[in-house]
Amino acid sequence: MDRKLRFAVIGAGMAGILAAIKLKARGETFTVFEKTDRIGGTWRENRYPGLTCDVPSHAYTYTFAPYAEWRANYATGAEVQGYFEHVVETYGVHDDIRFHSEVTGLVWDEAQAHWTLTLASGEAHVFDVVICASGVLHHPRLPDIAGLDSFAGAKFHTARWDDSAPIDGARVGLVGCGSTGVQIVTALASRVKKLVHFQRSPQWIMPVQQFAFSDEQRDAFRADTGLIDAIRFGDEYLGNVKRFTDAITHIDGPLMKAVEDICLQNLENSVRDPVLKEKLRPDYRAACKRLIYSWSFYDAVQNPSVEVETGRIERIEPTGVRMTDGTFHELDTLVLATGFHADRFIRPAGVTGQNGLTLDAFWARRPTAHYAMTLPGFPNFFMLNGPTGPVGNFSLIDIAERQWDYIDQLIDVLRQGEGRAVMPTTTAHADYEERRIAAAKTTIFGSGCSSWYLDAEGVPASWPWSYDTFVETMSKPKLEEFAIA
Ligand code: NAP
Repeated sequence: MDRKLRFAVIGAGMAGILAAIKLKARGETFTVFEKTDRIGGTWRENRYPGLTCDVPSHAYTYTFAPYAEWRANYATGAEVQGYFEHVVETYGVHDDIRFHSEVTGLVWDEAQAHWTLTLASGEAHVFDVVICASGVLHHPRLPDIAGLDSFAGAKFHTARWDDSAPIDGARVGLVGCGSTGVQIVTALASRVKKLVHFQRSPQWIMPVQQFAFSDEQRDAFRADTGLIDAIRFGDEYLGNVKRFTDAITHIDGPLMKAVEDICLQNLENSVRDPVLKEKLRPDYRAACKRLIYSWSFYDAVQNPSVEVETGRIERIEPTGVRMTDGTFHELDTLVLATGFHADRFIRPAGVTGQNGLTLDAFWARRPTAHYAMTLPGFPNFFMLNGPTGPVGNFSLIDIAERQWDYIDQLIDVLRQGEGRAVMPTTTAHADYEERRIAAAKTTIFGSGCSSWYLDAEGVPASWPWSYDTFVETMSKPKLEEFAIA
């Protein structure tokens, strides 16, 4: 028996496009709902100067869609967006996407074993299976600084870049020193009259090599995709991913020591002024916050136009930023590189599962999902890059592909008529969470720093085991952990 299922995919970013391609390949009936007018998710939304994917370009592709056209080892954000647009055309899924279609509600009907999906327009549709691919970092977090609204110049969050704001020859303030803030410093240092970088916590900077691919190299990649595979599955990338996850899970081991030594040596060798060097020296463990991979930050931050301000901000005034020591920075433009609310996921859409259980109630303590993909009480609801999944310095495309392989095997249970609804048992999920939380506290993310990796209780909200464990876990769901009805 092969039951014909109706699928809703929420979001046309990297994970939603993946789901669409996989469903199309199986001849499934599906619709992708995208709230905006374009595909791309985070790569559509983020357009700030300096945006670069810090995963090597050839490793930041779907395994089934290698791409010979990358211009450089680390691709710009615009190029990554172009890759996804190319894939959507190549795999013919563009017409399966409904744009301007924001999902605002999902309600499970136990009797019918289906989801009713409501759009912002009020329109409603029924689906057997929901694939939630709505992304993680898409709700900008504005800093809680007095007077923020009083600033009279241009002021915006990095994910809402204002192209009309004065930058060239202007006095720009940049609050935040995460992956985003660091990349913006590298792009703006040579353009502005003055860049004040408000740095609450310094960053560990891992030096990496940026280089262009020549026309001859691109010809060679086109002629032989084995050359691409050698990069993305070779020791330099995949080996590094494995060493990285080993390092962050064995925080007193030699691999983590090597990470710290390389970064400290980078600081030592790259920054000349001893005062600036100390300002840039982190006082927490490397990789506790997301490690910054950069080939140009230390050069840029030493540009005479850049001032690293490590004092505390007292308040924002109409013409600039006042520090607690009285210093005043007069600014034309204020850029807020202050990150995202990482605990929202599909919310604010309301999701109601069995017996009226809402996602808000289920996630009251912390967002969680069984192995980051399924939720007890929410049948036939599957998340890609959901809560407690792997995070770190590696490709989330690889993570989503492996999660898809796991999810697809659960959907087979429905396809084959073994049940009309599948979800993890409460007991299996509770056991997973208990083991995960215990392990997460011992990872480098729990070693004592502030970061978006931590939940409201300060517990790392991430996958706490090695990459190999992830690969093995994703290879086959344990059906005994699931309620199939
Ligand atoms: P983030 O890592 O959360 O960094 C936010 C920054 O804002 C931190 O430096 C934080 O300081 C600072 N901040 C927040 N509130 C502040 C306040 N009131 N006063 C002063 N400083 C304040 O955000 P993000 O840089 O946007 O990066 C988020 C994630 O996006 C990254 O970790 C990464 O996963 C992803 N990303 C990836 C790439 C890529 O190349 N693949 C590029 C950009 C972003 P504290 O550290 O002191 O809290």
